[in-house]
Amino acid sequence: MSNFVEETVLSVHHWTDRLFSFRTSRQPGFRFRNGQFTMVGLNEGKKPLVRAYSMASPNYEDYLEFFSIKVPGGPLTSKLQHIKDGDQVVIGQKPTGTLVLDNLLPAKNLYLLGTGTGLAPFLSLIRDLETYERFERVILMHGCRFVTDLAYADYLTNVLPNDEIFGELVREKLVYFPTVTREAFRHVGRITHHLQQPSFFDDVGVPPLSPENDRIMLCGSPQMIQDLRTLIEGLGFEEGNHGEPGHFLVEKAFVQR
Ligand SMILES: Cc1cc2nc3c(=O)[nH]c(=O)nc-3n(C[C@H](O)[C@H](O)[C@H](O)COP(=O)(O)OP(=O)(O)OC[C@H]3O[C@@H](n4cnc5c(N)ncnc54)[C@H](O)[C@@H]3O)c2cc1C
Repeated sequence: MSNFVEETVLSVHHWTDRLFSFRTSRQPGFRFRNGQFTMVGLNEGKKPLVRAYSMASPNYEDYLEFFSIKVPGGPLTSKLQHIKDGDQVVIGQKPTGTLVLDNLLPAKNLYLLGTGTGLAPFLSLIRDLETYERFERVILMHGCRFVTDLAYADYLTNVLPNDEIFGELVREKLVYFPTVTREAFRHVGRITHHLQQPSFFDDVGVPPLSPENDRIMLCGSPQMIQDLRTLIEGLGFEEGNHGEPGHFLVEKAFVQR
């Protein structure tokens, strides 16, 4: 099979002037594990222009969904942001990535910590029954600058808890904790800040972070990853990887070019 396959855009949703999501058709042979990413882009002449994208849709859906930034002047996203229903995008056929359940040792609670488009891999993991089989509580924290950047907030607050299949599990086990840094909101401050407040754990109803009880996946900016890595390694958490499950896993939401 070729490394890239053309898929048709099924729908596009613009959240803000910096963020959008889109759905495409999906080849039945394209298999991935929830939490993974693949290369996505546009066919331009001889070589496709592609970038890494996490699948935001779970692996049992017959479509693929992606949650994207619009980088001003960005080689791919300055064009990709203009896609419309019926357009073609290219999808790499070799998904990969570390944010998969098998890379974590068993424990009680799973923290999914994402900033910006780093929410994307967690959108597939929170719609995976195995996530709820493996963990008693799943705490999804999404950090952004502004309230309007909290894409999927309505889905996570109002739609998923009433889902026919996941509703009951989500109401019982999933805690959605959106937080912003640049304006007033019910939760203000960086994820690192909240995780250092004893009141945060009281509110969620879990004990403070410990390698014994908790597993963590991180997906965000290089700075967010560095800050959280320092915090949790200081508490004794050890990083996992393929073939060596651990207490926490890391994926960059983007690389600084
Ligand atoms: C493992 C992995 C998974 C990724 N998953 C996603 C995803 O699901 N959704 C997504 O939008 N992007 C994701 N990215 C980033 C993506 O690959 C591209 O960088 C992005 O699409 C911009 O492409 P570009 O060509 O327009 O600009 P680029 O030349 O790729 O980036 C230019 C600059 O824009 C900034 N930037 C790039 N991406 C982001 C971002 N997502 N958030 C904030 N700033 C950014 C960085 O400062 C970067 O240096 C991922 C990157 C990696 C490494």
